[in-house]
Amino acid sequence: MRLTILGCNGTYPTPGRPSSGYLIQTDATTLWLDCGTGTFAALQEHIDPNDLDAIIISHEHVDHCVDVLPFSYARRYGHPHLPAIPVYAPASVPERLEALIGRKGSAVFEALDFHAVARTTELRLGDLRVSFFAANHPVPTVAVRIAAERGTMVYTADTGVADGMAAWSEGADLMLAEASYLGAPQDKPWQHHLTASEAGQLAAKANARRLVLTHLWPTNDPDRATQEASAVFAGDVTAATPGMIFELQERHVTT
Ligand SMILES: [Zn+2]
Ligand SMILES: [Zn+2]
Repeated sequence: MRLTILGCNGTYPTPGRPSSGYLIQTDATTLWLDCGTGTFAALQEHIDPNDLDAIIISHEHVDHCVDVLPFSYARRYGHPHLPAIPVYAPASVPERLEALIGRKGSAVFEALDFHAVARTTELRLGDLRVSFFAANHPVPTVAVRIAAERGTMVYTADTGVADGMAAWSEGADLMLAEASYLGAPQDKPWQHHLTASEAGQLAAKANARRLVLTHLWPTNDPDRATQEASAVFAGDVTAATPGMIFELQERHVTT
């Protein structure tokens, strides 16, 4: 399984740095995980979007879902013969998109086939086994566990400290954890996100092999985030950067 970082900015994009979005690939399956602002363009640097098998969206916040709109336009108007693509997301995601653009005659709902997911959902997408966990966030939000023949990754999505998430994440080869903030947890401006040290503690409790920090607040120093997580987690820690590629057994970076 290969993970490519399309975007890793928390909340808003900056030049060359989209919001949250990730490409998951095996020989058999291609999956777009979260469609944050700017990630559809970034996706096209790596694949032909028509090669996608499915999309997963963690929650309705714009920095995680909005680029599914330009994707749907490209599919509906550029390739109208192609079937709608399955999109797995909390039920509130299509509701939010419908509130934005309407449903009648909408390319979005012709090109996208939404399936509601919740904590108990388990999916088989090609050779991937996918399960979910309820994150601690103000809107319905799912963390995502993806297991391939070789290796498992967990994506926390947006979350504060969540009871049970470490146990659910147990043994992940790679934990892709949000780390919106720096500094002491008690100084967090918003409890529904994690600090870098809380992300490190989560990875340590879960016995993860490797931690990748994402959803980094755009003005924060990623090196400091890495240092703060490394103080509490003994495994490899990397602050995500767009274009980074992680193989389950080895990491290499392309820029
Ligand atoms: Zn977010
Ligand atoms: Zn959010």
